[in-house]
Amino acid sequence: MTLDCVKTVCPYCGVGCGLEAVPTTQKDGTSGWKIRGDRAHPSSQGMVCVKGATVMDAIHTNRLLQPLYRATLDQPLQPISWDAALNLIAERIHTTQQNYDRDAIAMYGSGQFQTEDYYVAQKLIKGCLGTNNFDANSRLCMSSAVSGYIQSFGSDGPPCCYDDLEQTDCAFLIGTNTAECHPIIFNRLRKHHKANPHVKLIVVDPRRTPTAEAADLHLAIRPGTDIDLLNGIGCLLLQQEAVDISFVQQHTNGFENYIEVLRHYTPTAVAQRCGIDEADLRLAAQYWAASHAVLSLWSMGMNQSSEGTAKVRSLIDLHLLTGMIGKPGAGPFSLTGQPNAMGGREAGGLAHLLPGYRSVKNANHRRELEQFWNLPAGHLSAQVGRTICDTIEGLETGDIRFLWIAATNPVVSLPDLDRVKAALERSPFTVYQDAYYPTETSQFAHLLLPAAQWSEKTGCMTNSERVVTLSQAFQEPMGEARSDWSIFAEVGRRLGFGHQFAFETSADVFAEFVQLTRDRPCDMAHINHARLQAVGPQQWGKPEIQASSPSGATPASGSARLYTNHHFATADGRANFGAFHSRGLAEPPNPDYPFVFTNGRLYGHWHTQTRTGHIEKIRQMHPQPFLEIHPRDAATLGVEQGDIVEVRSRRGSAQFPAKITRGIAPGTVFAPMHWGFLWADHAEINVLTHPTSCPDSRQPELKACAVQLIPVAQLPSLECIESPKAMTASNS
Ligand code: SF4
Repeated sequence: MTLDCVKTVCPYCGVGCGLEAVPTTQKDGTSGWKIRGDRAHPSSQGMVCVKGATVMDAIHTNRLLQPLYRATLDQPLQPISWDAALNLIAERIHTTQQNYDRDAIAMYGSGQFQTEDYYVAQKLIKGCLGTNNFDANSRLCMSSAVSGYIQSFGSDGPPCCYDDLEQTDCAFLIGTNTAECHPIIFNRLRKHHKANPHVKLIVVDPRRTPTAEAADLHLAIRPGTDIDLLNGIGCLLLQQEAVDISFVQQHTNGFENYIEVLRHYTPTAVAQRCGIDEADLRLAAQYWAASHAVLSLWSMGMNQSSEGTAKVRSLIDLHLLTGMIGKPGAGPFSLTGQPNAMGGREAGGLAHLLPGYRSVKNANHRRELEQFWNLPAGHLSAQVGRTICDTIEGLETGDIRFLWIAATNPVVSLPDLDRVKAALERSPFTVYQDAYYPTETSQFAHLLLPAAQWSEKTGCMTNSERVVTLSQAFQEPMGEARSDWSIFAEVGRRLGFGHQFAFETSADVFAEFVQLTRDRPCDMAHINHARLQAVGPQQWGKPEIQASSPSGATPASGSARLYTNHHFATADGRANFGAFHSRGLAEPPNPDYPFVFTNGRLYGHWHTQTRTGHIEKIRQMHPQPFLEIHPRDAATLGVEQGDIVEVRSRRGSAQFPAKITRGIAPGTVFAPMHWGFLWADHAEINVLTHPTSCPDSRQPELKACAVQLIPVAQLPSLECIESPKAMTASNS
């Protein structure tokens, strides 16, 4: 590393690749920064994907440079000073509390936040303002993984580490297109898979994705049949006696109930429900049974479901059944989407959480926070706050009077988007804090605050394997942009909480936050900015580091797994089997809406295109939205390659050019999720989706809804057709 090279971390996804910013001089003599992978980073070992490699290309475009304000949404936005903007927020919060109640205020944050941003927001909203109405876009991403881990193991926290990618002999990927969504993780796994022919790769996905292309076994199950499949594998493992009975007896609860459920999932019935060959189901169980170390990976395909927690727990059940946890190469590993969704979990950044993996429902946890934050006893609310979907409802009913959105773009990413837009139009006062402008959400804000972004602010991010990396600033914020945490802190001070927000730097914030993790499962009390800068990324859950002195410079080396002693974070130290029957999709196809619509990410895209949409190389990779449709369905509909197809759900419609491919199962169609109304006409996938959510995790079922397909060329005569042939799915 040269003296001026700055270590940082990629701001896109939860893989958390280490980056180095290297100063350069352009041909015209101006100075700039070049980004390269950090070979010393334990998680990525110098690798980066196209997003990380091009991240500097859009840092300076379409930026919000100063606060803007309008009293009503039909007025033009006008510049306003920071001082006036902050006073306005403080005044609106104050009057909202006086005229309504503390739960009339809500904030919607983001996995783009650094941990310091998350922490100060929790202290302001849940602490000083006394409402738990703080939710984050992680609700849409991995809240089912959080509730699954908590219910099964007694605590959140992925138990695995990336070294397991090279130590497994069977990787079971379900509901994750890892090759496109977490490319560097997939690179590590694929290298290991290619070099070791005995290593098996099983991919479960209704689409033949690039991930599935690499698999030894691709199980293209029908959407919504994940639990059928998982229970079917469990049933076969039982039949084959491929069970670690000593692990089950010594370290688990609930086995009897689980096996009672499994007996309903016979191979023939499961194969039929899932739409796969029984031989393939048996092969999956055989691969699992023959392996010494099974590593399962999952992401939104499992989590974004009305039975998301049950799916996660049914997968964890297989690991408990076979004792595949707490040892090299094995375990249930949730891949986080957003770059610091993990940091958000640690800082308590969802409506039911408090910092340090605490719960708002736990009286002891609330008391600890009240004491630590120097707030009166009983000040913290015991009521779980509003999820973002509840907040939208609160805008509809008039119960939410003040909404603060930061570092996320809900007018692209929330389900039932037309309803979301209508609710935001009714919002009495919406603050929107973002680095970029315009975005789809900025059109619904009264007050816009310019946020500093990656490269302009220093703070921590935790990746999927619990590695904390310091993301260091190496250039000044553009215009009048400020870091998110400093904006929250200043509002806190103007509301009279000067003592609580006396931070001068983000290092001060982090130093306070980690005290709240001491002796908690996510203990980071040994980590601080200086140490991260001096010795590099640190992984929590690593006993030898926790044991070292605060000043000790223990280098990051190797990786840690949780539960290596098979003692879990439950009251009795045992993991809990779940016992779930499959309920299927919340909105199954029917004769009126005969297709299942699903959606997902493309390799080059992230973040509703606010950044990646401005990068030429990525624009060329993904020039336009499309709809994947099976040739059999296309033929039934009379659709040719590239024809525009209208997709209609019960909530709205969108149009896409058809991409006819055998890579999608008949009866299912797929469109990418990134095109908001600023990027394409009539291609917003979330006008189609519905907000029905998992009762435990409250994560909406963004991944599937029932739709009709109508070739646009046939639309003018549609009104005359009562039961158009065009609406019949070939396998429904
Ligand atoms: Fe960034 Fe994720 Fe790509 Fe790594 S895999 S470079 S973290 S987008």
